[in-house]
Amino acid sequence: MSKVNILLGSNTEPRNKYIQQAFNRIVETEGISLLSKTPVIETNPHGVKDQPDFLNQIIFIETIMTPIELLKFLKSVEIDTGRSFENKWGQREIDLDILTYDNIRYETDILTIPHHQIQTRPFVKELLEMMG
Ligand code: AMP
Repeated sequence: MSKVNILLGSNTEPRNKYIQQAFNRIVETEGISLLSKTPVIETNPHGVKDQPDFLNQIIFIETIMTPIELLKFLKSVEIDTGRSFENKWGQREIDLDILTYDNIRYETDILTIPHHQIQTRPFVKELLEMMG
């Protein structure tokens, strides 16, 4: 079993509904159990600034999935939650990122762990510290 931090994000209304739907789907999946979670907080967009604010949450889970299995699973949750992949400016209904996976370092074309957002977005580090 591996311990993983996942970042949930949405900046398209209804943001709360998208976050809640993805959260439920993840924690109700066989082979995943929820260990802890942060509150849902509002954050400013990073990179492309001309887009709505995000709601973000980090969940800490235990799973039997490998990093690649987990990435594929999270992509399917994004699609099922209604991510359109059509919005300009980086606006999205739901975004699911693997922040950390045990203590591993992983670098391929499709997956980088730890996620670079831990370094580039201060709130990610703050939320991770809140989780302990
Ligand atoms: P996004 O637009 O944020 O959904 O991410 C686009 C791509 O980033 C995904 O299709 C993944 O292949 C890639 N990616 C690289 N590292 C990660 C990671 N740690 N978690 C999630 N996606 C990642």
